[in-house]
Amino acid sequence: MRGSSTRWGWRLTLVLRRKKVLIVGGGSAGWMAAAYLDAVLNRDGRKSVDIGLIESPDVPRIGVGEATIPSINHILAAIGIDEREFMRRVDGTFKQSIKFVNWLHGSGEHYYHAFARILPTPIDSTGRRWLRSDRSMPFMETVSAQPLLCEINLAPQMLGDWDFGPPLIYAFHMNALKFADYLCELAKSRGVRHWVDHVTDVQVAGNGNIEAVTTATGLRLDADLFVDCTGFAALLIEKKLGVGWVDCSQWLLCDRAVTIHVPYERHYPGYVRPYTTATALSAGWVWEIPLRDRRSLGYVHSGAFSSDDDAERELRAFEGAHAADLPSRIVHFKVGHRSKAWVGNCIAVGLSGSFIEPLESTGLYLSDLATVMLSEHFPYGDDFAPLAYRFNRIMANRFYEILDFINMHYCLTRRTDSAFWRELRKPERMTDRLKAKLDFWRLKPPSNADFEDQYFPDQPRVPLPSGGLPGDHRPPVDTGRLFTRSSYEAVLYGMDFLDQECRALYGDLRPRTAMHRNVAERLALARGKLPPHDLWLQRVAGMAAYRKTG
Ligand SMILES: Cc1cc2nc3c(=O)[nH]c(=O)nc-3n(C[C@H](O)[C@H](O)[C@H](O)COP(=O)(O)OP(=O)(O)OC[C@H]3O[C@@H](n4cnc5c(N)ncnc54)[C@H](O)[C@@H]3O)c2cc1C
Repeated sequence: MRGSSTRWGWRLTLVLRRKKVLIVGGGSAGWMAAAYLDAVLNRDGRKSVDIGLIESPDVPRIGVGEATIPSINHILAAIGIDEREFMRRVDGTFKQSIKFVNWLHGSGEHYYHAFARILPTPIDSTGRRWLRSDRSMPFMETVSAQPLLCEINLAPQMLGDWDFGPPLIYAFHMNALKFADYLCELAKSRGVRHWVDHVTDVQVAGNGNIEAVTTATGLRLDADLFVDCTGFAALLIEKKLGVGWVDCSQWLLCDRAVTIHVPYERHYPGYVRPYTTATALSAGWVWEIPLRDRRSLGYVHSGAFSSDDDAERELRAFEGAHAADLPSRIVHFKVGHRSKAWVGNCIAVGLSGSFIEPLESTGLYLSDLATVMLSEHFPYGDDFAPLAYRFNRIMANRFYEILDFINMHYCLTRRTDSAFWRELRKPERMTDRLKAKLDFWRLKPPSNADFEDQYFPDQPRVPLPSGGLPGDHRPPVDTGRLFTRSSYEAVLYGMDFLDQECRALYGDLRPRTAMHRNVAERLALARGKLPPHDLWLQRVAGMAAYRKTG
């Protein structure tokens, strides 16, 4: 009965008054929220929600966030963005995987976390077979063509019509500032209102809900729902409503990045890599993200283990002499999440809601997920609390899923060459959930069933540190939605997990590692079908033809 009266209430609300949503902050999170909510809630020319966005002329966007994961394709499609136009507008390039270098021993070894791989059905024993082999070929190369396509810098798209079998899965690298500008242009052209003004105060009603924001020029903007996209400033959710931040720096030690851009005019290696590279250094790791006109580098490191000056020196030495005088920038960040991302009528999306360091490029994804969840749980009526409860639970779960997965990249290291890596090998640096999972996988390697159930033996039943969602004593679900078995296998086997246990488990190892037949067939055809990544970008996305240097 409650359901039907709510539904009537919902219809009545639509008839009587459209809800007003005010997004505060115009970074990637703010403009993604504006464009997506407008596309989904105001579909087919039927306007059910009034959306406005205010951003400050004085507070710049953070300006990082250049590597994405394939979920970006959903948001682009929902907004109605053409992929090629998108790439032209944001200096985009393709990303087919992440290549991890020096994470295990620090001696030049690497592995790929590719977006696509074959998954034989009904039983996928590729992992077990590889574990029993001599592992002369990296695991991912046996189940995916993408690592080798990446090594030879091929695009995941053809120049003509596609006739290369199932599509390759990819995401993009892009200029984060241009992405926000592009979304802004689209959203405004579709009716999203826009103010450039600095919010100076937030008015709260007696029931604790936000009523309005006021600005430096004397504007007062009221709304039914406020989306806090003010980045780490968290102007509404934290500064006004006092909602706390759950710190997770115990498990992820990095808290800053020093960044440089290397324009291709300065140094062009002769190709554009269709993947992100993450190379471990002495106190963290460096991202290398190729765009259409430059490479972007950022040394994500821990201030406790390296000074900013030392980190900058290490980054310049890593890149080479041509980087000696390029300007650099330090970006500070904190790893953690808002204890509740949705409180009353205020929802934190983007850096105001959570942040996990960018090793698996999940920052924009979390903004994207929050936006999609907000559209699914949109409060048309007046009863916000049940919707907020579900939203908070879903966001916290996904946060911990990502946290554990990234934690694993560090904790499986065997590096002892710096204080940073030695610290990461201490047991207390691994989350309890990850520890329970790895212990279990020492008894039997990961299989699909492990990603359908959230509990492993000896896993402590610690509830979400969410400031106490009423009656919620369950531990977070930490498996299987974003990072499935494929992702876990990529990292686990890339990091030589189970190399000792395997002999005990399986006896003698088989002498040869075999590549799956489908992968071999695809690779045999690849060079004839797929163009070099830079050629595709030049022909389709407007990249200039740079002269190879160095
Ligand atoms: C080092 C680093 C690397 C990253 N790399 C990646 C990556 O590779 N991939 C990825 O997906 N994500 C990455 N991220 C995350 C990504 O940058 C963010 O998720 C994304 O940019 C969203 O930022 P935002 O919009 O929340 O905040 P911001 O970009 O900081 O925007 C904040 C907005 O709030 C406005 N504002 C602030 N105060 C006021 C006020 N008083 N009045 C009005 N407006 C105000 C500002 O003007 C601005 O428009 C990275 C983050 C960091 C720190």
